[in-house]
Amino acid sequence: MPKYIDIHAHTNFKVFDENREEVISRALESNTWIINIGTQYGTSKKAVEMTNQYEGVYSTIGLHPIHTTASHHDESELGADGKEFTSRGEIFDKEKYRELTKLGKVVGIGECGLDYYHLEEESLEKQRSAFISQIELANELDIPLMLHVRNSSTNLPAQTGKSRNAYFDVYELVKKYSTRGDMKGVSHFFAGSVEDMKRFTEIGIFISFAGPITYKPNPNICDYEAVIKETPLDMILADTDSPYVAPAPHRGSQNEPMYVKHIVSKIAQIKGLDESEVTKQIVINAKKLFNI
Ligand SMILES: [Zn+2]
Repeated sequence: MPKYIDIHAHTNFKVFDENREEVISRALESNTWIINIGTQYGTSKKAVEMTNQYEGVYSTIGLHPIHTTASHHDESELGADGKEFTSRGEIFDKEKYRELTKLGKVVGIGECGLDYYHLEEESLEKQRSAFISQIELANELDIPLMLHVRNSSTNLPAQTGKSRNAYFDVYELVKKYSTRGDMKGVSHFFAGSVEDMKRFTEIGIFISFAGPITYKPNPNICDYEAVIKETPLDMILADTDSPYVAPAPHRGSQNEPMYVKHIVSKIAQIKGLDESEVTKQIVINAKKLFNI
């Protein structure tokens, strides 16, 4: 039994070519398991392949909503030359992804969902259809969804002309298309409202908190204290989203899975509960959801 499980990291990304071995060894030596997350076909394949190299390293496969269009390019993820894993405006090919599950330990589908922060002209339909296909694949394989949900800073996707809440739209799609029982998935890097959290947990979506909960509170972005206090302990998970947004006291440096302990400790502190009890319960939750 591990002490921690970082349920959402990207040590499969290009940027970790520099120090992948060290980062993973540090995590495993500190008794922290890792779920590496695919964001498109190339990074999904890499995540699955890595599961054969280590005990305690798992993967999810999927197409991130921002990779449903061609314009997005992140050096950490894809490399500076962009030749290897460039965002091509991929269309989710269920068959190709299904094949990947034969190569290693795949415990979820995603990250998938809706991203209104990076929403571009006509991309809402592409995001939605890629998401629906991934919900269908998760149903077929009977594994949970790894959800990416992000609102725009104004909540106003240009083309709709009206205020939209990505959390509500994801909720509606999961509710409509997911046929899984009480463990439909997890919303990683949660930054929604108490109301968004309640809607999710009611239909069996876990809530995972990331580095920002350890920063100076800014209720204009998200009132993490209120959300964490209200989220039932048996629905809480923790993720680093490495290499991005390292928690305090490592803020500003490259994030890595072993830092998930700082997030778990902050959750216990906000809830006013015994840290070892919270630590244990979060691992139980992750093992249950991902069946690992
Ligand atoms: Zn991610």
